Amino acid sequence: MDFDEVSGKGKSMFMASAYGTAVIISDKNKTTHKDTSFLVENSEIKSTITKNRILEKLHSKNAISDDEWSEILAFPYIDYAVYILKGHIFATESYEIDSNYKQYTPLYFDLLDKKDASCILYDNIQEAPGIVGALIEDLQLFDPAKTLKLFRDNDIHVAIKALSADRESYSLSDLQNMNEILNILDNLPDKGKIAEVQGKLLGKTKMKYICQNDHVNDPDTIFCSTCDLNIKGLTINEVGKITNFREKVNVLNQLFTDHKE
Ligand SMILES: [Zn+2]
Repeated sequence: MDFDEVSGKGKSMFMASAYGTAVIISDKNKTTHKDTSFLVENSEIKSTITKNRILEKLHSKNAISDDEWSEILAFPYIDYAVYILKGHIFATESYEIDSNYKQYTPLYFDLLDKKDASCILYDNIQEAPGIVGALIEDLQLFDPAKTLKLFRDNDIHVAIKALSADRESYSLSDLQNMNEILNILDNLPDKGKIAEVQGKLLGKTKMKYICQNDHVNDPDTIFCSTCDLNIKGLTINEVGKITNFREKVNVLNQLFTDHKE
């Protein structure tokens, strides 16, 4: 997915958004409708002008007024989605206190079709895993198939960000994907090691936990005292998310089994 400007300074053209709707502010060469009975309602002209104006503002990163946010929420076009998400990420990362994005972005995504919203969020989670993962969680848009794909194709730390989210209901195929995620998590390779280290005094060797960043800890240390990573390279926060996820999957397995009996 690409949403960069076609030309650096041009402001009349945007790249196609995630859903293939090319947003064209002015295109005189566009072919007109062939159907002679086709009528355009006046209201459609007005709403399209408003939509294009908002898209241009979103794209050029100009501030969106409260009135425009009302317009966006009244007519939540999917074309806005990627730009709003980018604005939300930027506002959150730069700690913009007076930004409306934090308030309105979840409301806007909540108005979209669940599948569309989840597609856009999962497609962009790598841009800012913590921020996008939080949106997925807030909006209960957990998608087991897409999360499994993240685990297979991406950095697992990105995928784990999506792990604590819920969804409204779970199908058998959801559960199968979640079991597969657990299988991946249960078979993570060791990044650090338990190894003998030569002691400073008397040259005696001692067993130590050496994290993936080569910090030496006592052997019973779970999380490295310097970088907080365990032997699998996970933080305590990530381990917590995995523990909760495992509990959810266990309960789901039980509920599906009970249903069969
Ligand atoms: Zn360490």
